[in-house]
Amino acid sequence: MKVVVWFNEVGKEDIALVGGKGANLGEMARAGFPVPPGFIVTSDAYFYFIEQTGLKEKIAEILKGLDVDDTEDLERRTAEIRRLIESTPMLPELAVEIKNAYARLAELVGSSVFRDPPFVAVRSSATAEDLPEASFAGQQATFIYVKGPDAVIEHVKKCWASLFTARATYYRAKKGFDHMKVGLAAVVQKMVDSEVSGIMFTAHPVTGEQKIIIEAGWGQGEAIVSGAVTPDRYIVDKNSFQILEKKVSEQKVMIVRGPDGGSREVEVPPEMRAKQKLPDDKIVALAKIGVKIEEHYGHPQDIEWAMENGKLYILQSRNITTIGKFSEMRSAAEGTDAAPVLKGLPASPGYASGTVKVIRDISELSKVQKGDVLVTTMTTPDMVPAMERAAAIVTDEGGMTCHAAIVSRELGIPAVVGTEKATEVLKDGDVVTVDAYKGLVYKGVVGETGREEKKVEVVRPCRGHHITATMVKVNVAMPEAAERAARTGADGVGLLRAEHMITATGKHPAWFVRNGRTDELVEAVKKGIRTVAEKFYPKPVWYRTFDARTDEFRNLQGGEEEPEEDNPMLGWHGIRRSLDQPEIITAEFRAIKELREEGIDNVGVMLPFVIHPDELLRAKELAMEVGLVPHRDVDFGIMVETPAAALRIDDFIDEGIDFLSFGTNDLTQLTLGVDRNNALVQKHFDEMHPAVIDLISYVITTAREAGVETSICGQAGSYPSMVRRLVRLGIDSISANIDAVQKIREVVYREERRLMLEAARRSLSE
Ligand code: PEP
Ligand code: MG
Repeated sequence: MKVVVWFNEVGKEDIALVGGKGANLGEMARAGFPVPPGFIVTSDAYFYFIEQTGLKEKIAEILKGLDVDDTEDLERRTAEIRRLIESTPMLPELAVEIKNAYARLAELVGSSVFRDPPFVAVRSSATAEDLPEASFAGQQATFIYVKGPDAVIEHVKKCWASLFTARATYYRAKKGFDHMKVGLAAVVQKMVDSEVSGIMFTAHPVTGEQKIIIEAGWGQGEAIVSGAVTPDRYIVDKNSFQILEKKVSEQKVMIVRGPDGGSREVEVPPEMRAKQKLPDDKIVALAKIGVKIEEHYGHPQDIEWAMENGKLYILQSRNITTIGKFSEMRSAAEGTDAAPVLKGLPASPGYASGTVKVIRDISELSKVQKGDVLVTTMTTPDMVPAMERAAAIVTDEGGMTCHAAIVSRELGIPAVVGTEKATEVLKDGDVVTVDAYKGLVYKGVVGETGREEKKVEVVRPCRGHHITATMVKVNVAMPEAAERAARTGADGVGLLRAEHMITATGKHPAWFVRNGRTDELVEAVKKGIRTVAEKFYPKPVWYRTFDARTDEFRNLQGGEEEPEEDNPMLGWHGIRRSLDQPEIITAEFRAIKELREEGIDNVGVMLPFVIHPDELLRAKELAMEVGLVPHRDVDFGIMVETPAAALRIDDFIDEGIDFLSFGTNDLTQLTLGVDRNNALVQKHFDEMHPAVIDLISYVITTAREAGVETSICGQAGSYPSMVRRLVRLGIDSISANIDAVQKIREVVYREERRLMLEAARRSLSE
């Protein structure tokens, strides 16, 4: 058994032994790229550890009979397992190898374990890479600035223990993985103390243009990643390696390592501020490495790099998957004469082909295998696991904001909704190509891009993006998407939907109330909000209170008792229901209050579907009853999504709001009288209709005068034409879908510049 392997001893075929992260680092090291040196404590070592210490039986015993849907029990049992792993001493035969490896690493980096033990990062590297990253691998721990042999061993055990977080355990159970067979490796790698760092694209990440783009900033990468500094930007020709363009930006602050590890922000010394960060010869050297890495992987790369003592390091490299994703022009069928068999709305961008599986009943979900195209009338919360497996999703019903649309966007799966007859036209076993840029479905594998493409990651970590005066936020519905959402670098969450979070319990919130189990409801809400609010901390996260229509979640436990309404869209939902059945909203307020006590104080409350200021007043009273004081403890705002709220916005301002956000999905539906989910009338659903714009314009003007923050969280916040309009109207923030944040940020940036230019021209001509 190999307890420890060095990076250059492994490659991409060794995932079972060293996990995905380890295999990637190995692949790069072996190919001769300058990755910071390190080794991997193998998954074999982990298995040996749990076997020899008797932990294996103990863990199996603890997990016996576990119902992972019993959240409390799951949390309790997994915490016990983690405690067991962390408190069991490392076996001497493993410890000695890990210590030796660390000592050798110390020598390799020109130091010594005795004199000056080096800082390392210890990262989990999961061996079951086909489980969705955000919900599984990404949950496992990473520790930076670990120092000394004993600390390394402790942290390796912490990584192992992280295999048994409640969430990872839940997912394994749901996906049918054997808990005892999934292993975990731990990567131990030198921490680079970078004087300059940044990113490099070996092709333009959006247009695909064949040039090397390098962004560089002083200190460590975090400041660039978070957008806090504007990096230098260099463009290099891919063949001649001539530097084509250099844009040097002034940098005032940088992040450096503190004396005991950890990062801290310091001022850049004045003489360095306006200097070019990376000298010309390093720019060229880096570009050359970039081209080699691209050649190695056969695909354009998004690379993280750093320089320490004049030496360049490659920290990470991954395929650029964003190319063309934003050019809605690109089509699966471009250049072919195939005719689509179905037309619908392009609800979540992407393209894929796969085998059709028509789902008419929940019991058929297991038919959907990885890479299939899921076809159904309309998706429901219990279909989410099957949706995650699908290469694409096609529905009969729904508009841009139906369940299928929201969930697919967050999962990054192409989806075409509202085709009216997908379940009739398509049959099990048909192979189809879904072009979800255009909302078309073709029979067979069509076009050059029609090859099977599984779930694509459309969001790359956004680094060095433009800072805009108008904030660009993101909408989140599922806590599982929090990580992807945060990676967009958005300025906060402008809409955190409660519905998907609560219904993930499999139960309707009213069920908890009816069965006297509101404590569990509080826990579920807390858990969902915590996941998102932590990822964004300290940026604001506006939690919108429960707003499901009575027909939406009927198949959940307790959903069968929901009243039958002729017109649920105009019925018992939003704040009006919350006030009729206050136990639900009270539970939500309690959750927010208890999170505040944990230190999570970046959550705001947003009330949906208000038509009268009394509703706002009553909601505030309910919040106070549980000890959550509006405006003091928590920002309180409303959605403007009824013409009543828009026309009488003064009344709400008088009652007191910190912010408002346009719910253009409902505002458009109610202003134009067009059902947002009815495929037959979608062509009339136009958020840019002058009547809707007039309402929005009036509200923004009124709110600005009163000093109330304005935002938009309806689907139209992801549409460039609407966003340009809103920027001109003076909106304070835009909240877009995850897949649109980057594009929208560009649109906002441009429009703001255009406004400034126009103003400058006007003053010149005066
Ligand atoms: C809206 O109406 O625009 C909105 C964001 O809320 P929902 O889509 O949940 O109705
Ligand atoms: Mg709404």
